[in-house]
Amino acid sequence: MIYLKTKEEIELLRENNILVSKTLAEVKKHIKPGITTKELDAVAENFIRANGAVPGFLGYGNPPFPGTLCISVNEQVVHGIPSDYVLKEGDIVSVDCGTVMKGFYGDSAYTFAVGEIAPDVQRLLTVTKESLIKGTEQAKVGNRIGDVSAAVQRHAEAAGFSVVRELTGHGLGRHMHEDPEVPNFGIKGRGPILQEGMVICIEPMINMGTRHVVFERDGWTVRTRDRKPSAHFEFAVAITKDGPDVLTDYDIIENE
Ligand code: MG
Ligand code: MG
Repeated sequence: MIYLKTKEEIELLRENNILVSKTLAEVKKHIKPGITTKELDAVAENFIRANGAVPGFLGYGNPPFPGTLCISVNEQVVHGIPSDYVLKEGDIVSVDCGTVMKGFYGDSAYTFAVGEIAPDVQRLLTVTKESLIKGTEQAKVGNRIGDVSAAVQRHAEAAGFSVVRELTGHGLGRHMHEDPEVPNFGIKGRGPILQEGMVICIEPMINMGTRHVVFERDGWTVRTRDRKPSAHFEFAVAITKDGPDVLTDYDIIENE
């Protein structure tokens, strides 16, 4: 069941995703060698609550997710649990953040570099973010989900990287995960038709090596099978008759 949102509902989703963007900017200030991922999680939780919202991931699912952020370092793809791991120079860290406010969810992610990173890892980050943008350009009325998926896949694979298949993007609204699924691989012209009022999360998870992943026994963390790095960027996007309306604001994260 795909729920179409009114303009007012899209504005509530925007409010949430702007707060998520501001939270990611706040977390970014603390990302440096020597900080633990648990400390980053506390920064995010305090910031979200101080802004009148509730963390969207905390207590979600089974087993209940124990953090405000999913923090996934290096070979971790997504759903990493905040821990005593100490960030070090050269790490990359995917920070995925959710909020709930006024009955709607925010959900966006960004992968940060810790200090100086290797050039091939920087290229993975660049290409993953570009894949997100290529996919987002296809998020328009009358296109299909497969157009978004194929655009993400084509860009990532043309660069020599691989696309995780086991996890996908999703609809976003009064629930964090709504229909439709938004895979990062697929075929143009296939899948559900994009309609005005749909809000979807597009979130490429791109690996430097094999596309295969392992689900860790903590019930959450997903990592690459070959332990090579993985990157993850996520936008929430409203489908409007004027084109894709990106509800996430990376300018807040990149240019503060
Ligand atoms: Mg997310
Ligand atoms: Mg998501």
